[in-house]
Order: sequence, then structure tokens, then C-alpha cells
Amino acid sequence: MIAKYMKKNSFLKTIQSFLLLFLLVNLCFTAQVYAKDLNITEVLYRNHVLSLKHDSFSDIKFKKRIYNDPARLVFDIYDAKLDSPLTFREENITGDISSVRVAQFEANTVRIVCEAKNTIALEKIKIENIGQTLYFKFRVRNVILQDISFQDGDLRIVADGPMVPRTILLDDPERLVLDLIGAELKSVSQEQKIDNGVDESIRISQFETSIVRVVFTGKKTHDREVRISDNEKQIIVIGKEGKSRAREGFTDELTKLAILNEDAKSVTYQISGEKKLHYKFLKLHNPERLVVDFIDHEMNDSFGAEPLAETSMVSDIRFGKATVGRPVTRVVFDLRGSKIEEEFKENSDGTALYIRLKGEASDEEEDQEQDLDIKAINPSKKAIVVIDAGHGGYDYGAIYEGYNEKDINLDVANKVNSYLAQAGVDSYMTRTEDRFISLAERVDISNTVAPKIFVSVHSNAITSNTKMSGLQTYYYSSTGYKLASVIHKQLLKEVKMEDGHVRKSNFFVCKNTRAPSILIEMGFMTNKDELRKLTSDSYQNKLAKAIAEGIIEYLEKY
Ligand code: ZN
Repeated sequence: MIAKYMKKNSFLKTIQSFLLLFLLVNLCFTAQVYAKDLNITEVLYRNHVLSLKHDSFSDIKFKKRIYNDPARLVFDIYDAKLDSPLTFREENITGDISSVRVAQFEANTVRIVCEAKNTIALEKIKIENIGQTLYFKFRVRNVILQDISFQDGDLRIVADGPMVPRTILLDDPERLVLDLIGAELKSVSQEQKIDNGVDESIRISQFETSIVRVVFTGKKTHDREVRISDNEKQIIVIGKEGKSRAREGFTDELTKLAILNEDAKSVTYQISGEKKLHYKFLKLHNPERLVVDFIDHEMNDSFGAEPLAETSMVSDIRFGKATVGRPVTRVVFDLRGSKIEEEFKENSDGTALYIRLKGEASDEEEDQEQDLDIKAINPSKKAIVVIDAGHGGYDYGAIYEGYNEKDINLDVANKVNSYLAQAGVDSYMTRTEDRFISLAERVDISNTVAPKIFVSVHSNAITSNTKMSGLQTYYYSSTGYKLASVIHKQLLKEVKMEDGHVRKSNFFVCKNTRAPSILIEMGFMTNKDELRKLTSDSYQNKLAKAIAEGIIEYLEKY
């Protein structure tokens, strides 16, 4: 009986756009709670709580998935035995969850299936393992919106619990849709339409019982940014011109950049901020650099005010705003050679970061022995390119079989970036980590950086045809067409894949970037074989190398 729930595909009649896709395809999660080799001794359902008593105190190995059509949650517990040979059933439950089943699915797997009216209800199930009981709580309350305010172009929403935002950008007319999942308006009086001058209107409504929907309609809505506070209880949707006080608390300041101590073999730098620092770093080669990005941090006047002397490990330090739109401060250390290693330490409250650089400095020409397996660009043809990893943060792109499009795109984009660096091409990435950037911001970044070309990296998905496969390269303008053709050809040559053709489309980024731009759909996540490849490191390397080579060929030719 339970076998029928193994059917993986939910069939969607129509898919309006790839942006909508992530809302609709299967949502998959894997994670860990507590226990190992466990026996389930009792299953109970009472007051909208399913409880499974077990005998384990260690890790529970499980996989949780949510499917559409019918909406159901499948929760497998591995290395587990159910004492009773019979399936536990609770049917015709009133409320959002309609039925619950627990059974021994395979010799070592206990499967729990919950059916519901919609996937939202399933996403809200709270699963907790307390002591020796695993609870599925079906009535997790919605968070209530306490305050909605609009000031100087910024919309700010405050809730009594953590919010789960989801954004969609739509065209014709231009709209930004912000869904707050598992949220409720405090009262109907919060339903409102705000007219923001001539250009924009904002509508706030209870879209479904568990979703508050905010729709921005107007010419500049795609320029807006959605930010969420650390505790996730506040969301601000920023308009470009706004300078309201509503933004306070969404950006922290960096206050200090200094050398803490230095000797012949090491040097320690200190970077401090007002609040806990959120940072990501990456190492770039040729020349050797350590890049540290502080996310949602802006520099105050004292940051870097004192000039820093050269040290035994670092020939120069540069810093500045890394992206347009969202505050990211980037600090770049130019390292003296590839043998210098970095060590990160924080103080107890995370407001100070200590970066210790140690190793053997070598100021001579960089060690060329590292795998430079891509040919260098003709130096006279050097140009800046922008590499754009599609989606990011709470915009997952497509989600399939537990893989997120945003992660695949970023992996490949990072690899393209490092191949380009090896070949001597300067590339600028719209994002280097898992964070949300709107399409408008991507365009903004590109138009500010003013690169020779813009290349966006995506992965395709179509749940209604899981056989569909192949490479598709999109362009909008005629200059984009040339770029698309060169890179598409290079990809087909280097990576054995089906030709999904060069196609014209008015994708937002292709249409609005001033540089010749393309959007590569590297393959279909909904196709089993292609998903396996897209998620493999070696295949991603191949893709990235071919894209980088295509870029170089284009730069040398045009
Ligand atoms: Zn995509």
C-alpha cells in the first residue's frame, strides 16, 4: 500500500516560468536529529500530535520529503524497527492534515506518511525528538504580523515569531511578490493597499490561511530588496531611494581594521564590528589573494582610516563595497605567494575576527606549477566579465531530489571564476555565497561593473517531462547571440551533452544588462542522469572549464 507513495513525480499541467517552479516542485530535505538502531515501541495519535516512543538516546537517521499531488510528507527513519507488524493508521482527521500512517517500509526503515490538503500544512509540521519520543506536531501556530509600516519608500513588517519569506518577480506588469509562509495578519484591518506616489502600489493580504502575500506593482518593484533580520522576526523591503529609519538594525557597521601582531613567520589582522560578524572568505590565485566578504556590513568612517603597512605576508590590503544594492564589505589581502595559509578566529561574542596569515612568503613570480590546465588569454584581449550564479538564499531556484538549483549554479559559477582567474581574465561574481540577490540587483551590478560580457549560470527543471535533457543557451540581443553561440558550441564540444539549442528569450537579466549577456541552462535537474552529472564535482569542472574557454574564445575574437 505504501509503495504507491514512492512515485516521485508530481505532474504540473503548466509551468509559467522557471521562477515559479521552485514553489511547485517537490521539496526535499535531509537532516539529522538524535538516535541509532532504534526500536519504536509505541505509536500514538492524540490532539493533533503523532508520537513515536523509542528506545534510543543517540542520533536518529532520517530523510524528510514533501511531495505534491497528493500533498504528503514522507518521513523515513533508517536503522529502525517497528514493534508492531501492522500499519498504524489514523484517517479522516479534521484539520489540514487528513491522514497519518506509520509502517515498516523496508527491513530497516520505518516510514511515516502524512497526507494533507496542501504542502504548506506539511511544511508547518513541527518534528521534535525529546527524550525517547519523536513528536510530529501538526498544529504549529502561524506567526502573527504585529506591525506593518511604510516609510520613505521602505516597507517594514514585524512578526511575533520567525518568518519564512519567499519572493517571486513577475513581468507585465512588473511585480514583486513577497509571500510570508506560515504567517497571519493580526486583523483584517492590516489588509491594505498603499499607494506609493504615482509609480507603485503595494497590496497586503491574507492570501491563504497560512500565507500573507505582499504584492508590489509598478515600474521600480524589481529594484526593491528584501532583507530579513537575524532573529527572522523582521523583514524590510527596501526601495532604492528610501533612507528611512526602518533600515536601522538591518546593517551593522565595521569599525576597525588593524594589525594585531606581527613577526617574521606570521601576521594577525583584526577586523571588528558593532555586532556579530557574518563573513565568508575565498582564496584566489594568480595573483594570490584572500578575499573576506562581510555580509550586511557597511564600513564606518574609522574602518581602515589608519593606513596599514606592508607586512611579511601581505603586500597590500584593499577594501570596499563589494556589491551594489546589498551591503557587503569586501576586504582583499594580496598575499606574498601561494604558501601562505590563513587561520580564522573570533572573540567570544563574534564581534571581532582575527585572521592569522602564516607560512613562507615568496615574492618572486608566482609558482606556476599549480594545475593551469586552461590556456591563458591573449593579454591584449583581457577584459572584465561578470559571472552570475542564478538564484540564492531563500530563492532556491528549482528543487529536485533534495538538490537545490542555487547550489549547483554557485558551484559551477565559482569554478568558472577560478578557471578565468587562472587564465588571467578578471571576473566579477554577482554572488559568491548562498545569499539572495534580486534579478534587478544582478543587472545593477553588471551595469555598474560595466563588463565586456555577462554570463548567468542556471540549471533547468521541468517536472512534467522528466525525460527532457540537454543544454540550452539563451540570449536576448544580437550581441548576446554571438556570445551564446561561441559558448554553446564550446560546451557541446567539451562536455558530451544533448544540444538543446541557442534560444532567444527575454529573461530579465539578458534583457536589462547593457553588456552582451547570456543565460546558460546547463541541464535538467528533473532528468535523472543529468541531475547525477550536474551534482558531480568532476562534471561541474568540465562544464566550468568549457564555459571559461568559451568566454576566452569570445573575448579573443570580438
Ligand atoms: Zn534558474
